[in-house]
Amino acid sequence: MTATLMDGRPLAARIRADVAREVAVLGRLGLATILVGDDPASDVYIRAKHRASTEVGIEPRDLRLPEATSEAELLRTVFELNADDEIDGILVQLPLPNGIDETKVIRAVDPMKDVDGFHPLNAGQLYLGQPAHVPGTPLGILALLEEYEVELTGAEAVVVGRSDIVGKPVAHLLLQRHATVTICHSRTRDLAAAVARADVLVAAVGVPGVIKSEMVKRGATVIDVGITRTGDGLRGDVVVETVDRAGLITPVPGGVGPMTVAMLLRNTVRAARFRRGLLAFPGR
Ligand code: NAP
Repeated sequence: MTATLMDGRPLAARIRADVAREVAVLGRLGLATILVGDDPASDVYIRAKHRASTEVGIEPRDLRLPEATSEAELLRTVFELNADDEIDGILVQLPLPNGIDETKVIRAVDPMKDVDGFHPLNAGQLYLGQPAHVPGTPLGILALLEEYEVELTGAEAVVVGRSDIVGKPVAHLLLQRHATVTICHSRTRDLAAAVARADVLVAAVGVPGVIKSEMVKRGATVIDVGITRTGDGLRGDVVVETVDRAGLITPVPGGVGPMTVAMLLRNTVRAARFRRGLLAFPGR
């Protein structure tokens, strides 16, 4: 048996086209990004986000601050963007340089403009099952599962990784869709036993090949979030041979990655709706 590939590209393109139509109706939308320092990987991500924004008619504002920026200066920039009426969404590219408290910066972003969904208010709303802004990667994963009509009600879902950006939020979304959710992490005693139970497996670890083919239940749906740059190119968390065992599997690259950016754009439209009073903002 060879798994069906869950291609994120056509779905992401459809979502971007929907966003472009919505932007045309809403009028001018602004997305501000802040990059502190000159990390090359972050620069690539920021450029991709700007390109995608421009394509759908969202105006990006590219704020680049030097590596030596103090926490106070960064916070001031965030507060200015919070008060700027031309800005609907704010994204602070992580990781921030040493010496800047990420938690403090994330808390400073106006929750209504927090298109990354990292602010504690947004994280809390997700926990309560009343999502306001939800991080793009978990949203993208759920959209892919829906696109490929994966049954979630009653399914055994296993999430490997418990980050605030992917693991925890995707686990909450799966729980809200009535899956029975297990979250694994670096201290999980028997990862193989947990993974073997999964009808739906989400691997968000960042360790290439940590999920071996023989760990995966035959016919399972496998979402590989991991992206690691290696000498042999980009690698996911799941060994490629799993394609002969899974029912559905995301390719790396081309699976979850394109969905993340599409969902960021969708979140920016959502932020604009919240700000214009077209949609009630949960939690306020
Ligand atoms: P992270 O913050 O580093 O979290 C990694 C998680 O994996 C942690 O919870 C860690 O456990 C767990 N872990 C580490 N080694 C493990 C092991 N051997 N067995 C089981 N669990 C283990 O990473 P992240 O931000 O969630 O990102 C995860 C991966 O997804 C990365 O490769 C990242 O590049 C990728 N990613 C892709 C996209 C996309 O758009 N495709 C978006 C975001 C992230 P502890 O909590 O115990 O340390």
